[in-house]
Amino acid sequence: MEIKHVGKRGILFTFFELENSRYDCVTNVYAIKGNQYFFICDTYLGPYFMKKVKQYLESNFGKKKYIIFNSHSHWDHIWGNSAFDNCMIIAHEKCKDLIEKNAQDELIENAERFAKENIHIVLPNITFEKKITFEEEGLEFFYSPGHTEDSASCYDYISNTLFVGDNIDNPIPSCICWNELKKYKDTLEQYSKIGADIIVQSHGDLNDKEVIRKNIAYISKLMTNEKIAFDDKDVLKKHLKNIEYLRQIGIC
Ligand SMILES: [Zn+2]
Repeated sequence: MEIKHVGKRGILFTFFELENSRYDCVTNVYAIKGNQYFFICDTYLGPYFMKKVKQYLESNFGKKKYIIFNSHSHWDHIWGNSAFDNCMIIAHEKCKDLIEKNAQDELIENAERFAKENIHIVLPNITFEKKITFEEEGLEFFYSPGHTEDSASCYDYISNTLFVGDNIDNPIPSCICWNELKKYKDTLEQYSKIGADIIVQSHGDLNDKEVIRKNIAYISKLMTNEKIAFDDKDVLKKHLKNIEYLRQIGIC
């Protein structure tokens, strides 16, 4: 685990368990030190890892209550929910539905390789349709479909930082899992309007707002079936995976 301080009050925990696997990426858990609460964006692969996050936060900043946010339903973002008893776990309403529908299957598929303990799936207990705001904490969680239909984001307007989950990757989004590219582009344009200084994504480094422009350009090209050339092998791999998904569902 690597720890990096971000802006005025963000702490980025980066984990490496998915790196040498077919997923081939790092994974971030993003914490925000609020006034009354620690906000935790995504809970990674279970309580084993969340214990390390809590230990770091509490030993550096003292005890606070936790509020958890799930950016979307995918297994690598939710397995640690059970580490937060009696806490608010916030997600978009579609995220809760998809966890109910898919989490057990995803657990069966991935537990043997990635779980450090018995994973008990815990559903979000507060859901929203458009957004939920914590005014006194300077934070907003809002619906931002793109990577998946249930994706949501967290905007910290005190440190002008935007956590985007899997919606953004550099230089192109990876692992597109939804076919509504126009709505994906709308989400990215909404990100642009926010004008955050720092973009925090789930599976890569911190970026500035330039990454949003690159992601919009890519989605625009996909929408018009434009041929795209890539010099970098890894980026080409991400592109081919996106294309494979979009072909399967018949829009490319
Ligand atoms: Zn995902």
